[in-house]
Amino acid sequence: MTDSPIHIPKPSREAGLARLKDFTVHMGHDYAHKRNFDYGPAVDLERDNWRDNVSRLSPYLRHRLVTDRELLEAAIAAHGPEAADKFVSEMLWRSYFRGWLEQRPEVWSAYIEECEAATAKLKVAGGLRKAIEQAEQGETGIDGFDHWARELVSTGYLHNHARMWFASIWIFTLKLPWALGADFFLRHLIDGDAASNTLSWRWVAGLHTKGKTYLATSDNIEKFTDGRFKPSGLANEAVALAEDRNFKLRPFKVPATPSKAAKYALLVHEEDCHPESLNLPDAPSLIIAVAAPESKSDGGVGDAVCDFSLRAVEDAANRASMHFGCETVFWDQGTRLKSLLSEAGLDRLLSPWLPVGPLKDAIGGEVRDADVKWLMRDYDMAIWPLATKGFFPVKKKAPDALRAIGLKL
Ligand SMILES: Cc1cc2nc3c(=O)[nH]c(=O)nc-3n(C[C@H](O)[C@H](O)[C@H](O)COP(=O)(O)OP(=O)(O)OC[C@H]3O[C@@H](n4cnc5c(N)ncnc54)[C@H](O)[C@@H]3O)c2cc1C
Repeated sequence: MTDSPIHIPKPSREAGLARLKDFTVHMGHDYAHKRNFDYGPAVDLERDNWRDNVSRLSPYLRHRLVTDRELLEAAIAAHGPEAADKFVSEMLWRSYFRGWLEQRPEVWSAYIEECEAATAKLKVAGGLRKAIEQAEQGETGIDGFDHWARELVSTGYLHNHARMWFASIWIFTLKLPWALGADFFLRHLIDGDAASNTLSWRWVAGLHTKGKTYLATSDNIEKFTDGRFKPSGLANEAVALAEDRNFKLRPFKVPATPSKAAKYALLVHEEDCHPESLNLPDAPSLIIAVAAPESKSDGGVGDAVCDFSLRAVEDAANRASMHFGCETVFWDQGTRLKSLLSEAGLDRLLSPWLPVGPLKDAIGGEVRDADVKWLMRDYDMAIWPLATKGFFPVKKKAPDALRAIGLKL
């Protein structure tokens, strides 16, 4: 592990926009040719040139401090659709995963059940418990893997390729339960997201695209880490994991657009931290802010993850208060949401959509109880319904769907 200072992103829209501005120049050919290289976490704070071959915008996107739309617009405006195609594609993977999970919510509940079952097993299976501890603490003796385990915990980030290698080694070389690996990521990734994380782990394991796995190889790792790592003893085959259930597609039903009405409160949560660009019927009278990052896992969510989410929501609530000229109250979950509303003399609540995942599990019941009206973004409504099968049909249909909402692809 490097001795250089560790780069932790600042949880504000301003910092996200600054990173977007710096990275826009790299979103074309540079990104297409260099994105697969993981040069490691060494930081040159003077030049802030840390890993400019990838955007490092995922914590901002995941919390919607900057929006998918803003990134796509920047990429196309700077490079044109052809040169920006690779970047656009990767952005679409995120939306595809979100839409796919939204339409198969049982995949998320099955993951939670699998985590619980595997965690229960750890209590009685000492060997497995030790193996998990060694893997999480970076003490397996596998070159690269041990580094990534520690890098993840200390920085809250891993390069995409490192995530793939790590997951593959976890599942096929170490033969550990995939759900506990996904849980380890969710506890420590600042961009940790139910859809991208669960479905990427399932993809590596051969559960997402049935039977198609991802095998990490020593040569590939050596090449794309620029020779930093060359592990030996990796599994030389990756036999797909099997599961005895099929998950039903539940086509996404777009909620009705909230009508213009008297006063209402707007919920600001960690899944959408850009309230200024929501399609609101009128200005809200009150902002109710909430974050529950600890709900991502029962195993103890990392401080950097909690800190980023809490401060991202604070940043969003402060901006919303200024923008709409109203007060903010923070909803801590010891209080009933309905009580907060009635104390403020309000009986109407609007909220950006709560996607399938831990925040919805933690607060969804109370929010629905308060008779919420949901706000959807055009971008999600354009892409999510396309995510019924694999990624490539989405990629094919996305340009038309996005042009229909005014994005010039
Ligand atoms: C096992 C595994 C777990 C993952 N868990 C998460 C997660 O919890 N949250 C998360 O946001 N991403 C996850 N990813 C996807 C991807 O690794 C990260 O989005 C990406 O590395 C973030 O770094 P970046 O912003 O520099 O990416 P860039 O390469 O700059 O890409 C720009 C944006 O496109 C999106 N994107 C890029 N690649 C992917 C991809 N393969 N899948 C989905 N979206 C992508 C991200 O929003 C990213 O910020 C996971 C991938 C794997 C293999």
